[in-house]
Amino acid sequence: MDKKAIFTQVSQLEERLGELHHELRGLKEQLAYLIEENHYLHIENENLRERLEAQEEIQEVGDKKTVNVKKSFVGEGYDNLARLYQEGFHICNTHYGSIRSDGDDCLFCLSFLHQK
Ligand SMILES: [Zn+2]
Repeated sequence: MDKKAIFTQVSQLEERLGELHHELRGLKEQLAYLIEENHYLHIENENLRERLEAQEEIQEVGDKKTVNVKKSFVGEGYDNLARLYQEGFHICNTHYGSIRSDGDDCLFCLSFLHQK
């Protein structure tokens, strides 16, 4: 192997090493970017999860309240109001508690009763 050939080979090797070094640096930058992005996505995901849980809690409390109000109204409350109406009293917001004149049906009372 002559000296010129060895020199050429070493030069080529040096060039390839330079390219590899350049490629390695590019990959390192991409990796740093991905790690940073992953970090922010992780934080964002946690924040969103917390907000979702908080909202689900609010929703749950709201549902329970609605169910309780409906239960009490559909149960005893509703029967009492229906009885009051049968006995000739207004149960509507407009005339609540006053006497219906001669058993005239009140549209407000009826729509209130039929709502449920
Ligand atoms: Zn009425």
